[in-house]
Amino acid sequence: MTKPLPSGTTIGILGGGQLGRMLSVAASRLGFKTHIFEPGANPPAGHVADRVTTADYDDVAALEAFAASVDIITYEFENIPTAALDLLEQHRTIRPGRESLRVSQDRLTEKDFLSGLGLRVAPYENVETVNELESAINSVGTPSILKTRRFGYDGKGQSRIMSTDQADQAFSDMKGAPSVLEGFVEFTHEVSVIAARSTDGDIACFDPGENVHKDGILATTTVPARLTSAQRTDAVLLAAKILNALDYVGVMGVEFFVTSQGLIVNEIAPRVHNSGHWTQQGCSVDQFEQHIRAVVGWPLGDGTRFVDVVMENLIGDDMNKVPDIMLEQNAALHLYGKNEVKPGRKMGHVNRVTAGAK
Ligand code: AMP
Repeated sequence: MTKPLPSGTTIGILGGGQLGRMLSVAASRLGFKTHIFEPGANPPAGHVADRVTTADYDDVAALEAFAASVDIITYEFENIPTAALDLLEQHRTIRPGRESLRVSQDRLTEKDFLSGLGLRVAPYENVETVNELESAINSVGTPSILKTRRFGYDGKGQSRIMSTDQADQAFSDMKGAPSVLEGFVEFTHEVSVIAARSTDGDIACFDPGENVHKDGILATTTVPARLTSAQRTDAVLLAAKILNALDYVGVMGVEFFVTSQGLIVNEIAPRVHNSGHWTQQGCSVDQFEQHIRAVVGWPLGDGTRFVDVVMENLIGDDMNKVPDIMLEQNAALHLYGKNEVKPGRKMGHVNRVTAGAK
């Protein structure tokens, strides 16, 4: 049992994107202050936070001042440099803990961890040379996907391989970065579970959502997902197993491929997750509040889903749809305050709600 932080204390958030922004709003609704640490200028989270530090992750003085000004530290993305975490951890507790970052920062470590827990993942092999890639293609088979082990997101750092003669090209696409070759999973659809674990070890999972990606980026999440009740239970139990194994505190996104042979874990994200944005209109306590509650040591909230929701990401020029969305019934618009529209950039999302959760 850890002493809960009282309302009024300050939560430090590493990363100032839209996830940090929505975490800040949730924290503020519970009376907490937030302090954002972000290297980039004018971060979306900065507009709604109590304080912002604009500094690089190797700026020791800025990291120390940040740590001294907050009561607990959390993060909105998993690729925080290890040296910065080492330093921050000397001063303040970081939740979710280092083990979840260590595991999820590297696809190979993550896959070893998940399969070590007895969960099913796509067949995979470590690849550091072209020769290793050729033998990996032989053992994993084709089609397959070569992915960088670190710093990949939204389909970046990935190359599809249909035959062994593509090995050279795929290997050079990785620009020398250590990679994993993954067998292509014949899935019918993709789902994710947004799961939370408290400092007391209680677990609460939101209803699984069904995800559709376009160009490697999440396009929509629909709840309820198409799952049998056995699959739904499975998804939640598998997520809980992961959180318990990591002694996790906070919200995690767990992505699954649904196949005729059952659920295969694609990847885990030790943070609030784009596919959990539907909870903002679907539940009385959303994923952002759930994460804040967990990291400050409060009891988890009730994540029961009350309505059906389709979440649609507004990416790049999708911003042109905003005037029409404003006029729609039952549509909740969330914009991230990013001043420049760029192709592939997540600018906002809309949650379209219909009554009738079962
Ligand atoms: P990732 O960044 O690994 O989540 O990959 C982004 C998307 O690419 C996934 O959500 C899938 O739609 C697709 N994908 C990634 N890995 C595989 C795989 N091994 N088999 C089939 N599709 C995949």
